[in-house]
Amino acid sequence: MADKKVVATVSLAGCFGCHMSMLDIDLRLLDLVQLVRFDRSPLTDIKKFTERAAIGLIEGGVCNDENVHVLREFRLNCDVLISVGECAIMGGLPALRNDIPLRECLEEAYLTGPTAVQGQRIIPHHVDLPKILDRVYPCHEIVKIDYYLPGCPPSADLIWAALSGLLSGKLDTLPRELVKYD
Ligand code: SF4
Repeated sequence: MADKKVVATVSLAGCFGCHMSMLDIDLRLLDLVQLVRFDRSPLTDIKKFTERAAIGLIEGGVCNDENVHVLREFRLNCDVLISVGECAIMGGLPALRNDIPLRECLEEAYLTGPTAVQGQRIIPHHVDLPKILDRVYPCHEIVKIDYYLPGCPPSADLIWAALSGLLSGKLDTLPRELVKYD
């Protein structure tokens, strides 16, 4: 246990599809758990870092102030930080709102849109709710990112190639056929 590398993962403004792809490495998970211990992650339900991580995997872009805080916490606590998937790399689907003023988005969602509930037309606001940012930011605009795994989601084979390469200290280049951008 002591010589296992520590890995942490998080989903910011993402759909958990990238985490599903991580789990899709299937039987190689058995090899992975011989090499690593998952610390802070939705996979363990550990909410705070209990020790420094060798690798941090970030799914999703940054859409609110809580995402900023969590991403900075990952940067502080991880030796290597990886943007996993298009949302982390360039904002992805949530960034479709970037060309629309934030007020217009909120009004459409909560006041005027067809799903706004009659009689409950207020824009939610509370000190405990994360504050939505003016736009959705890719992770590298908030903190330094060391590696990028493209795809929506990146394939399980690409994630495995990156993880096993980093863990063995032999990550040179990733096989081109595993890299896709959709
Ligand atoms: Fe989901 Fe695709 Fe974004 Fe990953 S990149 S969080 S799969 S939408």
